[in-house]
Amino acid sequence: YAAKCSGGRWRRYAAGLDEHTDEKARLGAELRAALDTGEFRLVYQPIVSLPSGDPRYVEALVRWQHPQRGFVSPAEFVPVTEENGLIVELGEWIMRTACSDFARWHAEHPATAPERISVNVSARQLAEPGLAAMVAAVLAETGMPAGRLIVEVTETAVFSGGVAVRAIEDLHALGVGIALDDFGTGHSSLGLLQTVPVDVLKVDKSFVDNVTMAGRHAVIAEALIRVSDGLGLSAVAEGVETAEQAAELHRLGYRLAQGYHFGKPAAEPTARRTAAVA
Ligand code: C2E
Ligand code: MG
Ligand code: MG
Ligand code: MG
Repeated sequence: YAAKCSGGRWRRYAAGLDEHTDEKARLGAELRAALDTGEFRLVYQPIVSLPSGDPRYVEALVRWQHPQRGFVSPAEFVPVTEENGLIVELGEWIMRTACSDFARWHAEHPATAPERISVNVSARQLAEPGLAAMVAAVLAETGMPAGRLIVEVTETAVFSGGVAVRAIEDLHALGVGIALDDFGTGHSSLGLLQTVPVDVLKVDKSFVDNVTMAGRHAVIAEALIRVSDGLGLSAVAEGVETAEQAAELHRLGYRLAQGYHFGKPAAEPTARRTAAVA
């Protein structure tokens, strides 16, 4: 194949690959340093009740503010930390920070703090022994009840093998809730519901985007809420951007939603309404 290219083109192609590898190695090293110097932050996005829009839970999302590059998206750097293994240490920092923030909100504003907090866990973290022990230690340290924590895993991460399923069972045994993230986009979505203890289905944004138009997305969104209700799970519609989508999801039976329409990720969670106001 290389012989088909002119020498010049092949060399340029190969040089591009090297640059890519160098760039990745550099990014990996910078991520390592960023963890040591404290350049990571967590932001929190509300998960709300439908149709009221009242905040109920929050999802913790990691951010990297690089001194020169500026904001780097987790979609870009989380995969690099999964490849070089840094996600294990970064993931522990994320878990500890999220749980201690949650405990602080409850100490400061018990009436209006979120009921539960969702933390994303990657495939590499599930494969690493000791995830449940780390989570148990963080819960003990922060005094946070296990039932207040939800761990979000993707179907692809769970599908990566028996080790991942064991890790999820161990977390579930602690009393931690398990959410399947981006539900419906991975391998064997429905099959997983038979093999993993699941509490929450996070129905992927791709089914929400066109939910207001009669068509396949709406049919799937409706089927997923039936499956969720039938199995006694809670369903969260992800990536809700308009009032029309929210109304249609509510009509289909969704009672929880997340998306820019209700609130973007922010440094502090939106306060829940107190019972006295309602
Ligand atoms: P995810 O867990 O599915 O998180 C939802 C993503 O959708 C977030 O992007 C959120 O900001 C975005 N989002 C929420 N509502 C809307 C909406 O209405 N419209 C649109 N267009 N987007 C919306 P973010 O924060 O950039 O994170 C991207 C992905 O990176 C996450 O997807 C998750 O897979 C990963 N990630 C983020 N934080 C963490 C973390 O702390 N640990 C791990 N392991 N992965 C993380
Ligand atoms: Mg998530
Ligand atoms: Mg998601
Ligand atoms: Mg997603």
